[in-house]
Amino acid sequence: MNGKLYLCATPIGNLGDISARCLEVLNTADLIAAEDTRRTIQLLNHFEISKPLTSYHEHNRHEKGEYIISLLKSGKNVVVVSDAGTPAISDPGEDLVRLCAQNNVDVTSIPGPVAGINALIISGLSTRRFAFEGFLSVNKRHRREHLESVKRDTHTLIFYEAPHKLKNTLSDMCRTFGGDRKIALVRELTKIHEEVKRCTLDEAVDFYSENNPRGEYVIVIEGAPEIEETDNNIWDNVSIKEHVDKYIAEGMTSKEAIKKSALDRGVSKREVYNEYHKE
Ligand code: SAM
Repeated sequence: MNGKLYLCATPIGNLGDISARCLEVLNTADLIAAEDTRRTIQLLNHFEISKPLTSYHEHNRHEKGEYIISLLKSGKNVVVVSDAGTPAISDPGEDLVRLCAQNNVDVTSIPGPVAGINALIISGLSTRRFAFEGFLSVNKRHRREHLESVKRDTHTLIFYEAPHKLKNTLSDMCRTFGGDRKIALVRELTKIHEEVKRCTLDEAVDFYSENNPRGEYVIVIEGAPEIEETDNNIWDNVSIKEHVDKYIAEGMTSKEAIKKSALDRGVSKREVYNEYHKE
């Protein structure tokens, strides 16, 4: 009979968040496949668990994946853990689950911390509809294409980011989404210095031009404003200039007209402003 693959969530900072089931499964596993064995050894030592450990990460996932499947098919139970949090969420595990599905090997999860979800629920932004966007690419063009592809999404967006890339990412987000969008920068979840900074993208860019990011961050961003759908959006055939001028002719100041036009079109005020003032 085949063994089972267990995806075990581990703490993202506070060791007290380990679950009783996670400890039980780790204690009975035949093998623990860890993203970073040095970090996992610390966790196992803390809980006095001594089990065979192997590395399973981005760079050995093909060979190691085949090896793990062969063990599972010979009846062994294997646990996958990542550095922190839930495996397969911006972490190794996804491929292994796919391989198990192809090989009729059972997979189960031992639930626990996920940075993105915990950041979302304390962000103060809408939790009714959201999308997890993971890490942006390090490649500038791909990063901007990614942001461009989600800029009209009306649900909340969740991104992971490393501290040394935060400033560039915030600038790119501000350029693409506009400075008025609300953002929550959630750092050091479950740790002593846990913090949520709630502001606009403009304010976040300003803040981090004078302060260095520290710790691990989740960026939660409000979605684009809902556009009222009509039979084909009536503004599609109207240029931004005509759109703003129409409101000015009705008595609005140019600032009000730009704001209202941006809202109608579901784009940022900055985008309308730039287009309106273009030569
Ligand atoms: N699998 C993990 C999970 O369940 O959330 C995420 C792993 S991903 C490689 C690491 C990223 O998660 C970090 O760059 C950061 O964006 C986020 N993260 C992890 N721990 C965090 C924490 N304690 N506070 C804030 N963000 C955290």
